[in-house]
Formats: sequence, C-alpha cells, structure tokens
Amino acid sequence: MTITTPYYPTLLKRIGNTPLARLEFDIKPTILAKLEYLNPGGSIKDRPALFMVEQAEHDGRLKPGGTIVEASSGNQGIALAMIGAIKGYQVIITVPDRTSFEKIATLQAYGAKVYVCPDTDDLEDPDGYHAKAKEICKKTPGAFMPNQYYNVQNVKAHYTTTGPEIWEQTQGKLTHVFLGMGSCGTISGIGRYLKEQNPAIKIIGVDAATSKRSCPDNPKAYKTEGIGVDVISDTLDMSVIDDIVLMKDEDAFATTRKIAKQGYLVGLSSGSVVHAILGYADKLSADDIVVAIFADSGRAYLSKVFNV
Ligand code: PMP
Repeated sequence: MTITTPYYPTLLKRIGNTPLARLEFDIKPTILAKLEYLNPGGSIKDRPALFMVEQAEHDGRLKPGGTIVEASSGNQGIALAMIGAIKGYQVIITVPDRTSFEKIATLQAYGAKVYVCPDTDDLEDPDGYHAKAKEICKKTPGAFMPNQYYNVQNVKAHYTTTGPEIWEQTQGKLTHVFLGMGSCGTISGIGRYLKEQNPAIKIIGVDAATSKRSCPDNPKAYKTEGIGVDVISDTLDMSVIDDIVLMKDEDAFATTRKIAKQGYLVGLSSGSVVHAILGYADKLSADDIVVAIFADSGRAYLSKVFNV
C-alpha cells in the first residue's frame, strides 16, 4: 500500500525546522519565540545530539552495538537517549542532583541508565557528573562520549540548522536574538551564522549569575537548569556575542511561573530569556524584531517549578 501524503521516513528527520510564534508582551518590539520544545525529544538539544552521533558513526568512533555515555544536566542526555533508542545503542547519562525528577524519569523511560551525582563547583571532583561520565566511558568497551563541551559538531548543528532557519523565517529582518548559554553550542553556532549574514544583528546570551564564567573566583551552585557556563571551552565563541545577561535563580523561577499563567508553559532557560528581554525593553524599539529561543517545555519542571 502506498500513502501519498508526506510523512517523515524516521522520527530523526523531524528534528529541526521548528516554528516561530509571536509573544504578546506589553513592550514595543515584535517578539518571536522559536519553539524548540517541539523537537521530538522535547528540546533544542536534539539538534547537536544528532550531529554528534552521526559524525561519530561516520568516523567509526561509534559502531553498531556501541554505548553512548554523556554528562548532561538533562536535555542533551534525553536527546541522546531518544536517538540511541531509535538507532539501537545503549545510553548511559550522568546528571547533577539539581536535575528535575521529570528529566531523570524521561531518560529512564527511553531506556537509558542514569547516574545521579552530587552537584559540585569543581568539575574535576571525582564524584561530579563530568568526571563520572569520563570514568564510565573509559571502563565501557565500545563506548563513545560526545562530550558536548568540546565537540565542534555541537556548534556546527546550530550553524547549519538553527541559524539558517531563524534567518529564513524572519526574512533576514531580525535585529536581536536572546538565548540561554550552557555548553554555548547554540549561541556560538547561531551567532556565527547570523553575524555572517548581517553583523548588526545583536546576539544576547543569558548565563547563570553564579556560573564559573560569571564568577570565576567564587562560582556557586544554582537551581536554574539549562543555562550556566561552567565549562569554558572552544564551544564558546565570545566574538559573536554582544552582551550577556546574568540571571538569578529567583528571577528565572518567577518569570517562568508568571509566563505559564499567560499561556507559555516553558522551561527555566526560556523564562530566563523572557526576563532578559523584558529587562532590555528600554533599549528596544517598535522596529526591532527579537527572536527568543524557547529551548524546552515547562512540562519537564512541573515538580520543581510549578507544583511546589
Ligand atoms: N536551554 C535549555 C533548556 C538547555 O537544556 C540548554 C542546554 N544545556 C540550553 C538552554 C543551552 O544550550 P547550549 O548548551 O547550546 O548553550
């Protein structure tokens, strides 16, 4: 039997090409949210996960029957767990204990093995989630660690897909992009692509106020998931970033809760982005077209943010 209406040959082809939707906030510029939570794994991280896995398959670093091991505060792990399940790999994810219950349950639902590690300010701490992932990878035969903080495919995924989509969807008329910074693959990839098209476009990142990048001498643990630059590596290209807004947990949580009541049930990094845009309102005009990256949905945080 042949079906003549189009369909995706695999769920993996449904990654990317997310829509823009206008947000109705009482400020002058047009605000368009890029709805990355409509990716099949529920977040923007489906994009780099697919790029990193397919490059490793291509290079022979990941072979049939292999294992994917990653340190992830959640979404990168969820994306890898979904892709691993579809492609037939085992997946092991280490997460810090600030990760929401829903994200851990989601990882397990995809069949991934999850190690919850104590949150620590020190990345080299052998009990921390980064060190634990490295240790597991070393011990597991046929294991591949995408290592999103050091993998150029993380940036390339956004340079090749997210950036061009934003440019085309706004017909090159956008003036600003606001987005959360974690591994910085998104900001570096989108920023590089858009600056090449029009260097006047402003790229504004949102980082946790007490991340290692924000407070090199005195970083502190924070509760906002998704954002926070604690590993400074080549995936951070400061040359394409115009400004970085520092986000406090209380502002991220309060704005995320507030906009859910306005109909936008999004995650903490999206709430942080909205808070940053509202704080920038005086510097924006009615002619500006602002793209806000809504990286994931509020459904991943019901117990942590909404039903507390
Ligand atoms: N928002 C959310 C919800 C995320 O999971 C992440 C990834 N940690 C980001 C924003 C930041 O993306 P990136 O790692 O590309 O900086």
